Amino acid sequence: MASDGGQIKNKTVIIGAGISGLTTAFLLNKLGCDVTVLEKKKEPGGSIETVFEKGFLFDKGPNSALETHPLIGKMINELNLKDQLVYANKEANKRYILKNNQLHALPMSPTAFLKTRLFSPAAKLRLLAEPFIGRSKDGYYQSISEFVTRRLGKEFLDYAINPFVAGVYAGNPEELSVKSAFPKLYELEEKYGGLIVGTIRSIRERKRRAEKSKQSAKMLSFKDGMQVLPKAIARHLSGKVKFQSDVTSIKKINGKYQINFTLEGEQQSLNCDKILSTVPAYIASNLFAHFDEKLPKHLNEIYYPPVLVLFLVYKKKFIRRPLDGFGFLIPSKEKKSFLGAIWSSVIFPNRSDDSTAVFTLFAGGARNPEIGSIDKEILIGKVKKEFEEIMKISGEPELQTYKYWSKAIPQYNIGYIEHEKYFDEFEKNNPGLILSGNYRGGISVGDCVKNAEAVFSKCRM
Ligand SMILES: Cc1cc2nc3c(=O)[nH]c(=O)nc-3n(C[C@H](O)[C@H](O)[C@H](O)COP(=O)(O)OP(=O)(O)OC[C@H]3O[C@@H](n4cnc5c(N)ncnc54)[C@H](O)[C@@H]3O)c2cc1C
Repeated sequence: MASDGGQIKNKTVIIGAGISGLTTAFLLNKLGCDVTVLEKKKEPGGSIETVFEKGFLFDKGPNSALETHPLIGKMINELNLKDQLVYANKEANKRYILKNNQLHALPMSPTAFLKTRLFSPAAKLRLLAEPFIGRSKDGYYQSISEFVTRRLGKEFLDYAINPFVAGVYAGNPEELSVKSAFPKLYELEEKYGGLIVGTIRSIRERKRRAEKSKQSAKMLSFKDGMQVLPKAIARHLSGKVKFQSDVTSIKKINGKYQINFTLEGEQQSLNCDKILSTVPAYIASNLFAHFDEKLPKHLNEIYYPPVLVLFLVYKKKFIRRPLDGFGFLIPSKEKKSFLGAIWSSVIFPNRSDDSTAVFTLFAGGARNPEIGSIDKEILIGKVKKEFEEIMKISGEPELQTYKYWSKAIPQYNIGYIEHEKYFDEFEKNNPGLILSGNYRGGISVGDCVKNAEAVFSKCRM
């Protein structure tokens, strides 16, 4: 790397214009670094995809992001997106869980917890034992299911954590590693000895670091949907993001890297000092296989279950259940065809007019991966029928549309630690090659932004 008047002369190529790649590009560009982003699709955003159908806004991927890291707010300011920014309505703090076909509000205070019928009296009493339960030994090989059952009891696993895991990862609590998938939760036990004591003490520490926990961070989106953010970053980077550029191979020549890609069907190449990959693990596996023969095994073992996102718009007059919350999640014990529903028009303004209500439903995930081979129209029919029963809806939707993600969200399952260690090893052995994206450092948009900042330091080194 040469330095000239403080400017870094490294050339970095970033593969992928999702939020991970774009955030690092934004930071590098700010420092005056030479950066190019290559993106296969015509638009930026990757999993963040917003469309308008019949005037309704459908976020096919994330519907919101949590402002867990200060960089999110800084980017919004610097990109002049304040006018577009929307925060979730207060009503959205209320979340429901389905039990015996009834929606129960998730208790948000000690009094509500004592009153709720979501948990039995025995399960409530069991929580009192939590501060007296000792630490576990081997976090990485312990599932979130084992961890929660040990600390909080089986009922808490079934009716709080199981649906929560479905809502965040579309995941399976028996398979997700507590330490890899929920590091903050694990840390409460490891560092403070328990979840209740740990929560209280970590709130104080986070305040000092100006960081927000996922529970207290503000939930945001944009008037025109989540894709506003990646689109604005790409615009800001002007010609530095090349769309329809499908990276096909990478070579090392005389200590530099040559990255080959097809741009609108034409073969092209770029030379650079550093390559930051933010493509999904199963794509990175092909691109980097010839640098390290064991790497593909690690990348391919990261499981991405399928998810179907169903978007429904109904006339409000057809809905007999009050719309007073974020939506609901479904525990696997309830045996439904979908994981949960977001009441999109309750959460953010201008998602519907006064007469309609908009919903986003999720099906599949690691709980029901068989949706991959089921006829989608049959699945949607079943999901819709169950949803209409729960919501007491007695009319046909005004609009019904869906997006099927065949490989949606990477699962940080038991054994993930071996992959994580190997990726670190790979980067050490191959200076200038950096593996990033949502299969490292967290899957949420907030985690991707946070991780992109950490990766930015690697690009500058
Ligand atoms: C259905 C769904 C719902 C979600 N809901 C939420 C939510 O509510 N809140 C939240 O915080 N998070 C949510 N997430 C997770 C979050 O959206 C993602 O983890 C995050 O957006 C991933 O960003 P990324 O940049 O790491 O990867 P990606 O978005 O996958 O970006 C990778 C990019 O690489 C490009 N690419 C692939 N191959 C090549 C190639 N060969 N050459 C060039 N480019 C290539 C892709 O086209 C893509 O643009 C959700 C995800 C999904 C799928």
